[in-house]
Amino acid sequence: MLKIRAVPEAGLAQEEIRRRNLGGLLRHVHLGGPASRSALAERMGLNRSTIMGLTAELASAGLVREELPDDTGGSAGRRSLVVRPESERIYVLAFDVAVDRLTAARVGLGGRVLDRRSAPRTRAGADLAYVVETLASLGRDLHGAAPRDARCAGIGAAYCGMIRPGDGMVRYGPDMGWVDQAFGTELGRRLGLGLPVAVGNEAHLGALAEYARGAGVGVPNLIYLHGDVGVGGGIIVGGELLGGDGGYGCELGHMIVNPFQGRRCLCGSAGCLEAEAGERALLDEAGRPAGEYGRDAVRAVAEAARAGDPRAQHAVEVIGDWLGIGVANLINLFNPGVVVFGGMLQDVWPAAAEHVRRRVAQNVLPVSRERVALRGCGLGDDTTLIGAAELGFASLLSAPC
Ligand SMILES: [Zn+2]
Repeated sequence: MLKIRAVPEAGLAQEEIRRRNLGGLLRHVHLGGPASRSALAERMGLNRSTIMGLTAELASAGLVREELPDDTGGSAGRRSLVVRPESERIYVLAFDVAVDRLTAARVGLGGRVLDRRSAPRTRAGADLAYVVETLASLGRDLHGAAPRDARCAGIGAAYCGMIRPGDGMVRYGPDMGWVDQAFGTELGRRLGLGLPVAVGNEAHLGALAEYARGAGVGVPNLIYLHGDVGVGGGIIVGGELLGGDGGYGCELGHMIVNPFQGRRCLCGSAGCLEAEAGERALLDEAGRPAGEYGRDAVRAVAEAARAGDPRAQHAVEVIGDWLGIGVANLINLFNPGVVVFGGMLQDVWPAAAEHVRRRVAQNVLPVSRERVALRGCGLGDDTTLIGAAELGFASLLSAPC
């Protein structure tokens, strides 16, 4: 009896190992770029004949191709073939709902943005139907413009709000006033490609993207702060995103830093980090009128501060100090290897760095601040879009063929 059961279990285990190795190899060339069979064998701890078998399977599924290396030195018979991801043929559609614009992109296996479209977005009053129809139209355009032999392997979307894992329901999107809007389901339906849309919080995805390809590669304990009209966050602990009980964790922007005389926050509270260190606080401190907002306005203040304008320098100092208080709390709590500033915070960071660092020096336990690095994001304005693309690739990478 036991012997009869052992056979299928062993078979299952072997199938599971094969599937995991296929996913592992594809992930290596997706994140690390083209690599020789021998390099892959070394990185994955497998022998070369196993790598050859896995590569052959991935190649017959159209996911990778093998080529002779460019380097023509050495004996032709001994050169290890280079495994390349089929970046032009295998792609995902990635969407980014940011505060001022809607973006769609076709991103190839390997992470290269092959094509993109965007549309401006008004800050208030954009309802679900408008956002979904605009994105679906951009996405259908991109899909239609793809080469005939290309295949869409998944769809990912980044949204600036709290997202229910699994079905992409926006539970709470404060900037548009969305509550329980079926964003992922509706976008999938309007795209009509027969694929589900995986949706994630933009800052969570930004953290994953910076860890996979940006300023935090190789740093498994990472904190990402993303500024737009508010401040979002993602925390990576031991290489995994910290989701919390329901996937709504890391709302770093709503960490209370100034409870007694704080500015009102969009969430209804007061003194949240995003209220004190967000776009409006910066522009108010710089004496900019209420009608002025957006990335250009933020960049203008940062630029004026750099050029010596005292009011702009004051604004950057105030915002840098609040940001530093938030960052100091986060470093004490999580002991990250790196803290990354993205979105509009990448524009503020160079001017505010000394003020943030001063707070960190004052308020972080010496042992925790010994090694932590603070830096601007590595993927520029594409951080959240690339994060959405990685979400779109997730199912392919976990079960390639
Ligand atoms: Zn808040």
